[in-house]
Amino acid sequence: MPKTVVKFGGSNLKCKEDIGRVIQVVKNYKQPIVIVVSAFFGITNYLIESLEKARHDEQVAKATTNYLYNLKRETLELHIEDTDYRNSILLEISVLLDELEKYLQGIALTGDASPALEDHVLAFGERISAVFLNGILNNEGIDSKTAFPESIGLVTDGEFGNASVDFVKSTGNVREALASELVYVVPGFYGVSPDGKTTLLGRGGSDYSAAAIARCIGASSLDIWKDVNGFLSADPKIVENPVKIQKLTYNEAAELAYFGAKILHPRTVEPLSDPHIPIRVFNIYGALEVGTPLSIVSAEKTVSKGIVKSVTYSLDFGILKLKGSGVGAKPGILAKVTTALHVAGINISSVLTSQISINIIIAKRDLSTAYAVVSAIQLPVVGKLQVTENIAVVAAVGNGIAENYGVAARIFTALANNGINVLMSCSGASPIVSYFLVDINDCIPAVRSIHQEFFETNIV
Ligand code: ASP
Ligand code: MG
Repeated sequence: MPKTVVKFGGSNLKCKEDIGRVIQVVKNYKQPIVIVVSAFFGITNYLIESLEKARHDEQVAKATTNYLYNLKRETLELHIEDTDYRNSILLEISVLLDELEKYLQGIALTGDASPALEDHVLAFGERISAVFLNGILNNEGIDSKTAFPESIGLVTDGEFGNASVDFVKSTGNVREALASELVYVVPGFYGVSPDGKTTLLGRGGSDYSAAAIARCIGASSLDIWKDVNGFLSADPKIVENPVKIQKLTYNEAAELAYFGAKILHPRTVEPLSDPHIPIRVFNIYGALEVGTPLSIVSAEKTVSKGIVKSVTYSLDFGILKLKGSGVGAKPGILAKVTTALHVAGINISSVLTSQISINIIIAKRDLSTAYAVVSAIQLPVVGKLQVTENIAVVAAVGNGIAENYGVAARIFTALANNGINVLMSCSGASPIVSYFLVDINDCIPAVRSIHQEFFETNIV
């Protein structure tokens, strides 16, 4: 019988009560599962800060590992009464922390860290989480075992900081390593390069790790435990009564994640859509039964009444604008610019062009590098190169957007009625998304206007 892969994220691992819920969920599965676990809440950010400070401060190594040790000791004291057993888990954690300390000391000595070393250090949050959770589960009588990516052969393409899993190399290894009737606890967020080095799978990448493992073992489903009520029609912090979305296709979930929905890492869907492994989303603060997910992402296509299923936004994008009276007609500009951006390791999220300007949408954090790289190319027809940061991207997502008339009209009428100016827009790049750019100050009103139009009034 295929196993289920169950992912617990940092948002499920904040406090003592959270661990109690995680234990209950694992028991509710009543069968061997593969657990993928993130670092505890805030720990990856803490490790990033420690790594930066360690470059010029040799005290940081000890301070970091002391802090992490005490944190784990206190949490274990709350969960495990038996001192000897507790100490045995603490010992396992200390072995990891000693190793981490040595790496941080090495960084302090040389004042530098290679990308390989950075990845190795940042993965300790997940390693410690796995040892911790496994210890707690054993104490609860659950027959579990840790399974580190390096020992189960979760092999990547070797790109530090943002690797992809190599399924040709990994599937056989992982399937065999996780075959027995035990509960396995796998640290998320990283795999190993073909030569055995730790490679991170990108920030928030534990969802992608879990999806990759689910694909390797041919799991019955990937169950993701969150701290929110599954996929919703909009961010509950922005709209008052978002509607729950029970069924989404892989494409809808991928587009929502791409355009800012925080619920899944954008790459989670990638490994699962081909083998049709469903993603089931649960709320750790809700009912802990494992049979009733809040949302299911699968190949089953449903079209909602108003076509739009959800409206999402992102403040993470900016625009690199190339202006010039003939940029649209001159061949070769985009080829040069995109090649230069590619060489600089910058990902392009969208390109919108006209006769007098080319707009390249990229992550805000890449804007200044992109500006420098593109400024350095000879582009005679480009009169002005400009970056715009103060924008938001808002996207309406739903099956049927491209096939039904009137959706874009409703979106733009709703925006106009609320006095919101659209800076740029795009429909048709994906058949299920209509997205546009507004001034950053118009982001929340834009999301609210569209939500109101499609979910609160005139639902046709
Ligand atoms: N701990 C990692 C991060 O914060 C991975 C994850 O949480 O999924 O990016
Ligand atoms: Mg996380």
